Amino acid sequence: MKIDRISLEKESDSKLSQEHICQQNEMPDQLRIFHVDEYGGRPQQHYELFTVWVSTIEDVQSGDAKEIGEVLNLSSIKVHYCPFCGGHLNA
Ligand SMILES: [Zn+2]
Repeated sequence: MKIDRISLEKESDSKLSQEHICQQNEMPDQLRIFHVDEYGGRPQQHYELFTVWVSTIEDVQSGDAKEIGEVLNLSSIKVHYCPFCGGHLNA
């Protein structure tokens, strides 16, 4: 399940703009690459690869989440190049 940009901004305390949509490779739904404009209210000028795990019906049934679409885990790292196509991400 794919998280929307607004939810990701809220969860990551960031302001995001340009998303790198990879044409050459299939990116799994939990991986997204966004330009970060702001983090914690401070201006930023870089791209990050976000890994976002969102709860599914199985997680709700097993009691690991209250509802579908809850963010279970979120992490990110700064990237200068797309790890899938190798394209330079111009900040
Ligand atoms: Zn790419």
